[in-house]
Parts: sequence; C-alpha cells; structure tokens
Amino acid sequence: MPDSANFVYHFNSNSCPAEAPGWQRPWLVPDGRLLRVRSGQLGSTVCRRTPHGEWSEMESTPPTGIPAEESPPVPEQAVAVEEPVVEAAPAPPQQLSGPPVTIGVPREVVPGERRVALVPDTVKRLVAQGNRVVVESNAGTPAHLLDGAYEAAGATIVSDHASVFQQADLIVKVQKPTPDEVGLFRRGQTLIAFLQPMVNTDLVQELRDQGVTAFSMDAIPRTSRAQYMDALSSMATVAGYKAVLMAADHLAKFMPLLTTAAGNIPPAKVLVIGAGVAGLQAIATARRLGAVVEAYDTRPAVKEQVQSLGARFIEIDTGSSDTQTAAGYAREATAEELAAQQAELARRAARADAIITTAAVPGRPAPRLISAETVEQMAPGSVIVDLAAETGGNCELTQPGRIIDHNGVTIIGTLNLPSTLPIHASQMYAKNIQNLLALMIDKDGALVLNMDDDIVAGTVITHNGQVLHEGTRARMG
Ligand code: NAD
Repeated sequence: MPDSANFVYHFNSNSCPAEAPGWQRPWLVPDGRLLRVRSGQLGSTVCRRTPHGEWSEMESTPPTGIPAEESPPVPEQAVAVEEPVVEAAPAPPQQLSGPPVTIGVPREVVPGERRVALVPDTVKRLVAQGNRVVVESNAGTPAHLLDGAYEAAGATIVSDHASVFQQADLIVKVQKPTPDEVGLFRRGQTLIAFLQPMVNTDLVQELRDQGVTAFSMDAIPRTSRAQYMDALSSMATVAGYKAVLMAADHLAKFMPLLTTAAGNIPPAKVLVIGAGVAGLQAIATARRLGAVVEAYDTRPAVKEQVQSLGARFIEIDTGSSDTQTAAGYAREATAEELAAQQAELARRAARADAIITTAAVPGRPAPRLISAETVEQMAPGSVIVDLAAETGGNCELTQPGRIIDHNGVTIIGTLNLPSTLPIHASQMYAKNIQNLLALMIDKDGALVLNMDDDIVAGTVITHNGQVLHEGTRARMG
C-alpha cells in the first residue's frame, strides 16, 4: 500500500485508470471495486479495459490542485491486484447493411427546426468513400444549403419524404422522428438523431418494436476520443454564443466600456451560471463584447477554465466538496446546497445587467437557481437568458419558448437556440455524424454495429428488437 497515496479514484471492476506515469498498481478493495492511486494530485480518469485486456482512457478531469489531505483515504483492507482480469473475446461486428450504404437525409419536419443532418461538404466526403446519399428536396434550404449544392456534392435529390426512408439503409436526422416518421421505418433500418432516449421512452419502445437500430447523438460518451462526434458540445457551443447575442440585443445598455464625448459608459456586468460547454462559450462571447463577467459552477474543476477566459469565478461554500459524478458531470444538488447557491447568486444577480443560465444535470430537471424575488431585485432593463429552459429553466419565472417581461426584466426562454444559427450548427452536427460513421462503416463499405467500440456501444439505443442502452432500460423499468 503506498503511503503517499494522494490520488484516489473509485472504479467498478470493469474500469481502471490508464497506464500513465505516476500511477500505482490497481488495488482491490473489500467491496470489489478497483482503486488506483497517484501521488500529489487530485483529478480523475475513467478508463475501460478492452476485451484484449488493455486499458483505454474514456474521461479525464485535470488535477484540481486540491491539497492531498482532502483526497479520500485508501481503505485499510485494500490489497494489490496482480493482473487485471481479461474479459471474454469480442463479438465480431454485426453487419447492418452491405456496401454501398445508402444514407438518407430527410427534411426536418419539427416546426422551427432549421438545421439539416448533413451539409454538402460531408455529403461529398461520404460519397467519395463509396456511399450513396439521398437528400429530400429542400432539406437544407432552411440552413441556406440549396439542392444544387447537394447535387454538386454527389447526392441524389428525391422529391418526397417517404422516398428517402424507402431508399435509405441509414436515416440521419437532427430531431427525433415524429410518430408519422416512425411509421416509415422498416425492420433492420438504422437511424441516427438526437433521441433523448431517457426522456422519450415511448419513442424508444416504438423504434425497438419496429426493429430499428437507433443511435442517439446525445448518448455519445463525453470522452477525449469521442469529442469529434460530441454533438452535445457542438450544439452547446452554438447556444452559449447565441445566448449572449440575445442578451446584448435585449439589454437596454451597451456591453463594452465606452469613452465618448458624451461621457463614459461603464461595461455591462454579465453573470454566467453553469460553466460547462455552453457557459464557457457564453463567457468568451461576453468578454469579446467587452462585458465584465463572473461565473459560477458547482464543479470546482472549471475554475481555471473560467479564469483563463478572463472571468471571475464565484466560489460558494455549500458545505460539500463532492459536487460531480465519476463521469465529470455535476451531481444533483441537495435542497440545502441549492438554498446556499440561491442566496449567494441572488446577491450577485441584483448587480448583474445580464444573466446567462446554463446549469443542468443530465437526465434531471434543471436546478432552480434564480427565484422570482431575485428577479425582482434586478434593475429594470436587465436580461436573463435561460438556456436551461428546455428542462424547466434555472429561473423560476422562465416560460419555455417565450420571451417575457417581469417588472422591466426581460426573461428569455427561447428554445432550440442552435437552430437559430443553422449554417454553422448544421456544419458542426454533420461533422460529428461523419466522424461517428467512420466507426460504423467498415473497410469494405458495409454499415456495421461494433459493440467492442465504447463510443458505438454507448450510443446505440435499440437493436434487433431490444433496448441496449442501459440508462434507458433502467428508465423503462
Ligand atoms: P451540462 O449541460 O450537463 O451542465 C452545464 C453546467 O451546469 C455544468 O458545468 C454543471 O457543472 C453545471 N451545474 C449543474 N448544476 C449546477 C448548479 N446547481 N449550480 C451551478 N452549476 C451547475 O454540462 P456540459 O456542458 O454538457 O458538460 C458536462 C461535463 O462534460 C463537463 O465536465 C465537461 O467538461 C464534460 N465534457 C467532456 C467532454 C470530453 O471529454 N470530450 C466533452 C464535453 C463535455
């Protein structure tokens, strides 16, 4: 047992930190978990052992600089594990459709959705790789991507929605399929879209019963290797940027400091709550506009990132230090922690000209951080943009899908901000899909399901009449 064990991280028996300088051998603790220990730092690394017995890194949180004394102790009874247990040989990838794969891009039918799943540039690449792409006429028009550009990229334009489903082996979409679209799928067909399977369990059941192999872009693991297909991050980047522009548009003031003949204008004060991908982009955008920015997040790991963007990090003592899960996400705050956060944020909010809220906990309703009383303390002319409106809102007064005025404070609950920047949002999403397809189309050009790949295995929701996604299965009971 190393006596200078300052880094401790808990794993289940199938996961362990990657081999890296400074890591000790794994230790098996009495409850069956493996622990790994590294000296002098506190951070986390989640790794998965491949069926070949190698360790592959899935997720890393950088060292936080938290002093060694604060790290959890290594249990007394821990014993060294000599060799990791090698799991069974991998199952061979299952073929979903033979070459060439026909990829179908239907027009998005949800009102207000302006994104499209593939852009001409990605079509060109996919066609060059030997695939066939069919695009519904005007699928890209809301994103200013015209049929001619798709044709020039090698796509076949088809005039009606149902024909895309009939001709394609694989349907790629942005929004989840509507009930009518679900009826267009045939057994054995493959779908990639944002499905939010843990929320839309009825849809998952229908896709399972239709025999569809469905992949959800919001289920892509948040790992270093998966960042090229991380559509949640891509869309959060768009939303964080646009939120600040909307705040600036509705704010009754300038954002930057101005020195004019008509007097000096102080910079606007912007408060960003939640410093994940969207929050960090909001901070960067508000700073570019010249605002003075402060930000809060329950995960102390983001402090340095906030500061590196030129914002002040707000620290709130909620009496608890374990604010995040093993996967690096925030865990849901307790009622006491929320009360402590609300009290401090109320003080900050009263001084802010604009507040951008992005706080979210995956699979849970958004935490309520801005009460009605807090809004009433804000100066008339100020703005709140609630990016958590999709999951109920961080502000008590947010009305999802609406922009309201409360005593002179504008509260923006507009949904689907990525769709308001459809050119770049589509470009980023299409690139994420192209990168995911690189794991799903084999060297012979066939579409395959390779459950040995942790990204594919984590993203597939239904296959062959079964729900394969663990979290969704748990929700379905
Ligand atoms: P998210 O949308 O789930 O949440 C947004 C932010 O809200 C998070 O930073 C979270 O900590 C914060 N939050 C939750 N409850 C809060 C509360 N009560 N008060 C204040 N803030 C609160 O997060 P996200 O942007 O999707 O990212 C989540 C995590 O995934 C982060 O750790 C991020 O670094 C990680 N991530 C990793 C990768 C990668 O490794 N490839 C890619 C993207 C994101």
